[in-house]
Order: sequence, then C-alpha cells, then structure tokens
Amino acid sequence: MVLADLGRKITNALRSLSNATIINEEVLQSMLGEICRALLEADVNIRLVKQMRENVRGAIDFEDMASGLNKRKMIQTTVFQELVKLVDPGTKAWQPVKGQSNVIMFVGLQGSGKTTTCTKLAYYYQRKNWKTCLICADTFRAGAFDQLKQNSTKARIPFYGSYTEADPVIIAQEGVEKFKEENFEIIIVDTSGRHKQEDALFEEMLQVYNAVTPDNVIFVMDATIGQACESQARAFKEKVDVASVIITKLDGHAKGGGALSAVAATKSPIIFIGTGEHIDDFEQFKTQPFIRKLLNMGDIEGLIDKVNELKLDENEELVEKLKHGQFTLRDMYEQFQNIMKMGPFSQIMSMIPGFNDFMTKGHEKDSMDRLKKLMTIMDSMTDDELDNKDGAKLFTRQQSRIARVARGSGTLPKEVHELLIQYGKFAQMVKKMGGMKGLFKPGGMDKNVNPSQMARLNTHMAKMMDPRVLHQMGGMQGLQSMMRQFQQGSGGGNK
Ligand code: GDP
Repeated sequence: MVLADLGRKITNALRSLSNATIINEEVLQSMLGEICRALLEADVNIRLVKQMRENVRGAIDFEDMASGLNKRKMIQTTVFQELVKLVDPGTKAWQPVKGQSNVIMFVGLQGSGKTTTCTKLAYYYQRKNWKTCLICADTFRAGAFDQLKQNSTKARIPFYGSYTEADPVIIAQEGVEKFKEENFEIIIVDTSGRHKQEDALFEEMLQVYNAVTPDNVIFVMDATIGQACESQARAFKEKVDVASVIITKLDGHAKGGGALSAVAATKSPIIFIGTGEHIDDFEQFKTQPFIRKLLNMGDIEGLIDKVNELKLDENEELVEKLKHGQFTLRDMYEQFQNIMKMGPFSQIMSMIPGFNDFMTKGHEKDSMDRLKKLMTIMDSMTDDELDNKDGAKLFTRQQSRIARVARGSGTLPKEVHELLIQYGKFAQMVKKMGGMKGLFKPGGMDKNVNPSQMARLNTHMAKMMDPRVLHQMGGMQGLQSMMRQFQQGSGGGNK
C-alpha cells in the first residue's frame, strides 16, 4: 500500500469521529479498528499496532471528558501523537559541524539505493552552501564508479574514485585525505554492498570504517522490504556503529509504514527519506511534520524551510527593484531558476495542507518542462534585452529580435511571443506590488498588508499565472489557501 493510501485511510477513520452524533466506546473501537487494519496493510508489525491501540485506549477516559467537541479533539490528538511515536526512534540524529571536515560513510545492501542516496545527500548539503564531495569506494559493483561520477558531474559535486585500484580501503583513505586537505566540510564515502548480509560485506565495511574513521555511518535501506527492515537494521548495527538511517523508495508500492516503524523500533534515527529516483526526491525526516503530511494536514515547517533555502530576502537588489516596480527579463529568469531550485512542484504542493498529492508525481513534469523551455528561450537573448527596464518593448519595436531568439533557441517565434506576454504579466504584477505600501517593510506581508490589499494581490497573482499551473494548484481557492498558509507560517502561528 502506498503511503498516501495509508494516510487517506487513517484520515477517513478520524473523520468518522466528526460524523458520529455521540462519541462512545463503540465509536472509538470501530475507529481504532479501521486505523489498525490500515497500519497492518502497510506492513506495520502487529506488535507495534497492538501497542499503539492500547496506548490510545489507555489515554482516553470517557468519564473525564466533558463535551462531545472535546472528546473528538482529544481522541484525534491522541491518535496523532501515537502515530508520531510509531515512527519516532526517540534518539537524536547526528549533525555535521560547519567549518570542519565531516566524514560520512554509507553502508547498505546492493540495490538499496546507496549510490543514488549518496548523491542526493551531497546535493542537499551543497545547496545549503556546505563544501561537499563524494568518494566512490564501491569496487564490488561494476559501474558503481561511473554512476557516481555521472551523478556528481551533473550536480557539479567534486568526486574521487578509481578505475584501476581494486582495494576499497585504499580508495577511501586516499579520497578522504585529499578532501580533508582541501578543507571539504562534507565528505561522503560510498561503499560496496552485497545482495545479502554476508561476512565478506561486513569485513570490507569494517576495514573501510577503520581506515577513514567516519563521523557518521549512514545505513541505507529499501522501504519495499517493509518490516523486514528491523532485522536488517539490527544486523548492521551489530557490526558497525550505525548512527543514522535513510529509507529509500518510499514513493513506490512500498510497505513504507512497515519500514519506518520497524527502523524506529531499533532506535536508529531516520534522517532522510528517498521518494523517487531524481536527485531532488529527498526529504529530511522529521516525525511530526511527516505524520501531519501523511494525514494531509500539511507541512508548513518544510515549506518554510524550502522557501528560506532560496534566501529571497537576501536578494537586496531584486527587492530594491521590486519596490520601484521594476522587473526585467533577467529578473524573471532568476525567479524561474529559484523555482527550479525548490524542486519539483509536487514536493512543494504536498507540503501545503489540502493538497492531496502526498508523494505522487508526474503531473508537475509538464510545468517544469515548460519552465525549462522558457529559460532556454531567454538564454538566447542578449544582455541588453535581459537587462532592459522594459525588455518586451524592445521586441515589439524590432520584430527581427523575435526571429533571432527563436532561431537561437530552437523554438518557434510564437513561443518567444508567448514568453514576452508572460513576462508582461509578471512585470505588471510587480508594478502593482511596488505600489503596495508596507509589502517590503520588515515583518513581511502578514504584518504590513491589510486583508483587502492581500486579496487584491492574490487576484493579481492568479491572473499572472499560467492557467495550467494555476489549475494544478487547485485553482483560485488553492492559491488563496497557499497564500494564507505562507502568511501564517511566516508569522510562526502554525505550531
Ligand atoms: P546501490 O546498489 O545501493 O548503490 O543502488 P542504486 O543507487 O544504484 O539504486 C538502485 C535503484 O534504485 C536505481 O534504479 C535507483 O534509481 C533506484 N532508487 C534509489 N532510490 C530510490 C527512491 O527513493 N525511489 C525510487 N523509486 N527509486 C530509487
């Protein structure tokens, strides 16, 4: 069962409380039964499911509870807390230290997604401005080095490995020494896997471990094996000092709930989860936001993190221009780059309450492709055109520019024209925003802009957006609820 289904089933069960006229033992038991069935279907261990049921039951005292409203709320809160407990290992995860070399060694069975995850983690830290690199000490699987090399090159991450050296210990040691000398902060070592847990794998793991003395060992596990994760995690923990776990393939037909709860049961902190094959399909794992998102309650914290990652407010030049209602084609280009950096739309969308596409993908690809195409078109523009205060006018005055850009970017003149129209709408919007007093004052829009101004801004935003994108975002209503969430989130009122 996909995690989204699990979430939906639990949400439905919780909703049955709101629909019931009276809340009594029978209603509670029926709801708990539904939730437990869903958890078992997701391969959560029966012992854990039983424990959770007992915990919820034990926390509810009907005699003690006054009104119906309180009962519902209390039961729902208790279920939420127990679900959080189910995936909470109760141990704190290791954190790298800025300004020094942090060596991270990856271990796991072959095919678990180890190499892919090494690059995802490196990319994650690189985006947060850590000086990051990768070492391929997997000499067992043919092609592992090529895969790592290809991935790192694509993501522009420095890497180390060898086609000729067969000893993983030597490669790991050399790589770590080299990168430490060069003051890298995050040094990730990928090691070999085997198809099953066997002595040769553990032996090699230990040798590499002793050679590089890592600050953190990350164990990568495939969610599709469900609760079998528990024995695997224990076996690895016995051999090396596994400090953290990353669970991959939580996007698939996974027995994801089973995998997560099983790992939590071994008290190994889950630090990230893999939700797809792409380098961006990677999320930091935090228990509360995870369950909130599972139950479609949204993950405002994650959303704010993503937006903060972009450091929009540090872009003083842009803010200054916006204040004066200016917006060039290059500004638009940079904004598109930002959107691409945030990762696939679905990731962003799934963090917003009410958007029921937890970990489902596919439909956002069109928008990303469109965005890429628009950027390709702008790549063929001259600096003059990009930096002009009203770039679109240059093109209307001299139509030959359109043909030139179309030729240069391998697109149709019609497409260049469409881009200019889109730009025109953005620029108009920025003019409106520039005129809105208070928008750029400290404290942001939630403090300084009144509701009617906000509503106008929303309408303008909707107008300026590509209708297809707007549709994906749940139309006008979806957009408004997103804006509201942004505001509430930045005001810190979401906890
Ligand atoms: P390794 O042998 O452990 O290094 O495994 P790889 O990194 O080569 O991954 C094995 C396969 O799993 C590849 O096809 C990856 O694209 C795929 N994979 C890795 N992580 C994920 C994930 O989170 N979701 C999905 N759907 N596939 C993944």
